[in-house]
Amino acid sequence: MSEQTLAELVIRLREFATERDWDQFHSPKNLAMALSIEVSELMEHFQWLTEEQSSDLPPAKLQQVREEIGDVLIYLTRLADKLGIDPSEAAFEKLEVNRVKYPADKVRGSAKKYTEL
Ligand SMILES: [Mg+2]
Repeated sequence: MSEQTLAELVIRLREFATERDWDQFHSPKNLAMALSIEVSELMEHFQWLTEEQSSDLPPAKLQQVREEIGDVLIYLTRLADKLGIDPSEAAFEKLEVNRVKYPADKVRGSAKKYTEL
């Protein structure tokens, strides 16, 4: 992981939008849609690959995936900022919820949903 933080990314994205007068387009609705589209672009790189192929991407493909991961994080971070949500805090909170929902001794090696345990 890089030394650059999500907090810095939030600030850089605000500056990026302000410099271009794009804040007017960054409603939560539009950002959520853009995020979904970028996730689809990310998934497209894996469509039709075997599981083995998906774990061993050629360098050019890996670079394209890297760019889509950047797009996804940009829109997710921008959406969270617009809603006043700290994305790191939200993720750590959710991880704690999942830790309780999926006790390791109960679910080890199982992909079942918590409602099926
Ligand atoms: Mg993209």
